[in-house]
Amino acid sequence: MAPVAAVTSSIVVMSATATRAPLLEPTPASSLTSPADTATPSITAKPATALPTKPLPPLPPTMTPDNLPQIIGASYEGRPIYSYRFGNGAIPIVFVGGIHGGYEWNTILLAYQAMDYFAAQPYRIPANVTLFIIPVANPDGLFAVTQKEGRFLGEDLAEDTFPGRFNGRNVDLNRNWDCQWSATAVWRNQPVSGGSQPFSEPESRALRDYFLGKRPAMVLFWHSAANGVFAAGCPETDGQARQLAAIFGSASGYPVYERFAYYPVTGDAGDWLSTQGIPSISIELKTHETLDWEENLAGMLALLAHYHKQSQ
Ligand SMILES: [Zn+2]
Repeated sequence: MAPVAAVTSSIVVMSATATRAPLLEPTPASSLTSPADTATPSITAKPATALPTKPLPPLPPTMTPDNLPQIIGASYEGRPIYSYRFGNGAIPIVFVGGIHGGYEWNTILLAYQAMDYFAAQPYRIPANVTLFIIPVANPDGLFAVTQKEGRFLGEDLAEDTFPGRFNGRNVDLNRNWDCQWSATAVWRNQPVSGGSQPFSEPESRALRDYFLGKRPAMVLFWHSAANGVFAAGCPETDGQARQLAAIFGSASGYPVYERFAYYPVTGDAGDWLSTQGIPSISIELKTHETLDWEENLAGMLALLAHYHKQSQ
């Protein structure tokens, strides 16, 4: 992957505005339903699980009660992991930010921007799809870098974001899944912990159980910063993942890759999902600082249109 980028004051200025930036003018998507068709009945959010007992965060002004977060589990240090819902269709799909925590904080801001976009424009979600977004899969890693558990500003970022890659037990959560797992894993040219066994970490278990419960049609993970779309598979590239990567890649302009081949990745979340019949792709943003919003918006809308077509 690209070298670790230095965090400079210019990043602070950029990201300080990122969460509050006005939404981009949407690209017309004639295949999606119009605003007039979105009078969906309000659905009462399921009560949060008992774990943990913290109150739910306040909804941003752009969100509706339909988007109320669900707590799907807790981190090693006890921080809640939230999933937010958009739409109400029969086909669930899931987008995940921040599995590498504060080290890849731009994937978290991108996930929040996507949440704000779909909350403000619910008609972008086809009637047959429900989109779930988990903005922070590794809240310990985000906290290590920002001292925040949710939305943050660029000025909150520590100078050294590397420690935020791991959870509170110093495990790389994208090396902890049961596909070609190894306790000693690799990140670029250095060893990282894959945990004591597959799914040794509470974050991985929470996500695993969430995915197995929902059986989503696909799962997208955001990472940074290898600039590309990567199809998952264990050990061979999954055919459906390859197709989804091509759809996202052609809409977004990111290069599409069969595999992440820069260095061996063991215990990858998306690879494990393929063993469960759930196709997965990873989007690697171009840098550690940019949100690549236009690219990702185009890719997300293309994925939604793909599932919309499946019902016709
Ligand atoms: Zn990553």
